[in-house]
Amino acid sequence: MTSLKKILVIGGGISGITTALEASETGYEVILVEKSPTLGGRISGFHQYFPKMCPPTCGLEINYRRLRSNKSIDVYTHSELKSISGDPGAFKVVVEKKPTYVNDQCVLCDHCTPVCPSVRSNEFNYGMDKTKAIYLPNFMAFPSKYHIDRESCETGCEKCVEACKYNAINLNMEGETYEFDVASIVFATGWKPYDAKKLKNLGFSKSPDVINNVMMERLASVSGPTKGKILRPSNQQPVQSIAFVQCAGSRDENHLPYCSSICCLGSLKQANYILEQNPDSQVTIFYIDIRTAGKYEDFVAIVQNHPNVEMIKGKVANVVLGQTGNPVVEAEDILKQKMVSREYDLVVLATGMEPNLKTQISLKEIKLDEDGFLNPDFQKPGIYSTGTAKRPVDVNSSIQDATGTSLKAIQNVVAN
Ligand SMILES: Cc1cc2nc3c(=O)[nH]c(=O)nc-3n(C[C@H](O)[C@H](O)[C@H](O)COP(=O)(O)OP(=O)(O)OC[C@H]3O[C@@H](n4cnc5c(N)ncnc54)[C@H](O)[C@@H]3O)c2cc1C
Repeated sequence: MTSLKKILVIGGGISGITTALEASETGYEVILVEKSPTLGGRISGFHQYFPKMCPPTCGLEINYRRLRSNKSIDVYTHSELKSISGDPGAFKVVVEKKPTYVNDQCVLCDHCTPVCPSVRSNEFNYGMDKTKAIYLPNFMAFPSKYHIDRESCETGCEKCVEACKYNAINLNMEGETYEFDVASIVFATGWKPYDAKKLKNLGFSKSPDVINNVMMERLASVSGPTKGKILRPSNQQPVQSIAFVQCAGSRDENHLPYCSSICCLGSLKQANYILEQNPDSQVTIFYIDIRTAGKYEDFVAIVQNHPNVEMIKGKVANVVLGQTGNPVVEAEDILKQKMVSREYDLVVLATGMEPNLKTQISLKEIKLDEDGFLNPDFQKPGIYSTGTAKRPVDVNSSIQDATGTSLKAIQNVVAN
């Protein structure tokens, strides 16, 4: 079937990739727009993901293979939607692609990075290490090519251009603007971790040994800053004692008023990371309630019953620095009705998921709810949302939702 109009998908995480693949494999043309230089979204940075506890490669690689063999999806990375006009079935959209400075001739030979004199903070590892100004966004990057952070380049330097034997680098590359006619628009713009710096009482800005849960994923990952060894950021020593602070900013009117529904499972999963590496380590999970719906209950029971795991019911009041400089967690154990003050090697703040759209795009054609999620029920016909752009959900639910959303987007094309 040839459709006259295409489907636009904004966001190339698991939700956007799934929407694009499901729509195109049914015979429709899709434009997939991703803000960053690579597809994959947040799960690319995970060490493992539940329920199967597999690395992100197992899910993403299959999808990338489907994308590579698919001629009906045009992928625009490092690109953003700038405007929407028109009506369902006949939208006009403008997409801006920023220059990447590296073209498709890049073969990942890596002759460019050793000669590059400039370094930049590595956002993929949440600032825990650095990359050169020319870098591979991550080891599974799609498209599989280097990228240049031009703002970090040394003025006048062309060393990477000279080192590249494949003419893959063009420091004068310019951005491009595209206009497309599309029948439907799907927002799959995902989430970001709630900014732990705003949690002044929880010590994130005071100690490098107070990290958030996405940083913990990177510490455990073989492609992370410590090559998968969970070490204390302050001194690179193994972690003997670790505390997880649940609902860090969540279910709190001053921060995120809702429950992200994932953070409890995230911490239970991460407790396993540390116990697998260091079976003698001591894990404490400070929680208000453990919320793990449905089939995940079994997973909670396994971790909860581990002899080295202690669950303390009580909201953490403060994380302060002890006399040794280690973080100290202060909380009330409400089941034992006593105050607890304990020192740890590492404290992980289980911060919630904040929708990217909340702070990012201001388009009058879309309406966000009070928390910044895009509820599809309140949008103009032809505009949809999926995955964590809609509400905080896990990967399985994102995939199911994206499959359903692709059907809605398709129907709009057929109807016109
Ligand atoms: C600590 C933690 C651990 C977790 N562990 C698990 C787990 O083990 N198993 C599990 O099932 N779930 C887990 N989750 C949940 C999982 O991360 C989400 O379900 C998943 O990331 C949802 O994918 P998504 O595509 O909706 O969003 P994202 O992964 O956020 O992808 C969104 C994409 O959209 C792009 N984007 C954003 N804005 C724009 C824009 N304006 N224009 C274009 N592109 C844009 C982003 O760059 C990104 O690539 C965890 C969550 C947390 C917080």
